[in-house]
Amino acid sequence: MALVVQKYGGTSVGTIERIRNVARRVAKTYDDGNDVVVVVSAMAGETNKLVALANEVCEFPSEREYDVMVATGEQVSISLLSMCLQSMGYKAKSYLGFQIPIITDSAYSKARIQKIDDKKVREDLKNGSIIIVAGFQGIDKEGNITTLGRGGSDTSAVAMAAALKADVCEIYTDVDGIYTTDPRLVPEASKMEKISYDEMLEMASLGSKVLQIRSVEFAKKYNVVIHVRSSFNDNPGTLVTKEDADMETVLVSGVTYNKDEAKISVFRIPDKPGIASRIFSPLSHANITVDMIIQNVSSDGYTDLTFTVPKTDYKKAIKIVEETAKEVGASGVKGDENIAKVSIVGVGMRSHSGIASKMFQTLSQEGINIQMISTSEIKVSCVIESKYTELAVRVLHEAFDLAKKDVKAE
Ligand code: ADP
Ligand code: ASP
Ligand code: MG
Repeated sequence: MALVVQKYGGTSVGTIERIRNVARRVAKTYDDGNDVVVVVSAMAGETNKLVALANEVCEFPSEREYDVMVATGEQVSISLLSMCLQSMGYKAKSYLGFQIPIITDSAYSKARIQKIDDKKVREDLKNGSIIIVAGFQGIDKEGNITTLGRGGSDTSAVAMAAALKADVCEIYTDVDGIYTTDPRLVPEASKMEKISYDEMLEMASLGSKVLQIRSVEFAKKYNVVIHVRSSFNDNPGTLVTKEDADMETVLVSGVTYNKDEAKISVFRIPDKPGIASRIFSPLSHANITVDMIIQNVSSDGYTDLTFTVPKTDYKKAIKIVEETAKEVGASGVKGDENIAKVSIVGVGMRSHSGIASKMFQTLSQEGINIQMISTSEIKVSCVIESKYTELAVRVLHEAFDLAKKDVKAE
């Protein structure tokens, strides 16, 4: 008998029929003799609707109220799944984040899980119940409802698996594993049997939304092996796990893209010590994460600075940067929302050279201009004009020979 944590995403619980399908899968796992804890997302589209409602009321809704609002989507899906299981004759019980409780910090809309009390869940499991937990939400020490950021149910699931020392953590979604790139964009993408935590961390942070980045951080920290698979079939999925020797032999494992960032440039800043901190401190105080940064070589005592921020924080960021730019005597600020970041990822890059130059060459052959570049040990990212995103992903996928071998042979 094992303790199994399963997470079902929005599409998997998008209709009553699909919730029934999930209930049958959960019941089968239980009937096979396992203890089962299920983490569920809101029904497909519901969180977007809630976000839109909040934004309709005001441009910058109070972060506390925003979380109270967007956390409600999951309340519907957990209770429906629980009712479904009960009507099939099973003991099932749903829990909101605060009822467990899943304790987080107070960073509304991007809270981090700090502690999970597993007492009630363990007691219920002992009594033969199937436990259904609302993903994406928690409660801070002051009793405020918090949410974990978009896609946060993945993190709820991995955190529950870590807290309960579960034997298995399965993330059920609408594709049957992790592919070399988004299979909806490139149908030739191939499914990976396994991927290392570090590669998955890079892929998630570079735009592959199949897993929320924090879920992978959690999994790596607590050694939780994640099995990503489809809720619509029984195909084996992809294991996200510790790196092994096979993984090193592949130069590039995946290609990702991200259209969710915007670029901000500050022109003719007096080039003095402390300038970068003057520009970036107010952004970090506002909880805005800055991603890529480029500072031009200084000429006649002035320099230009360009960086990217999440599009969701763009308006807030521009306002803050314009104020700081005035204070430090810069000549102006310009924003650009029409950008995308395309990246290649692979642990094999550590031991092979020439990969970045192949990427630049591939993009240039298509006439795609590279605006910014950033690299790490296992990834290379380029910012390009967003209209070229799909083309860039396709040609990179081909250049690094990632397509399904059987499809190529046809
Ligand atoms: P869920 O609602 O189940 O959490 P998500 O929409 O968050 O599902 O994640 C699944 C989606 O991730 C897929 O439908 C797919 O389009 C997208 N995706 C992006 N990159 C990849 C990738 N490399 N492999 C698999 N899916 C990917
Ligand atoms: N419902 C939330 C979202 O849409 C959390 C999740 O689905 O993981 O972002
Ligand atoms: Mg998701």
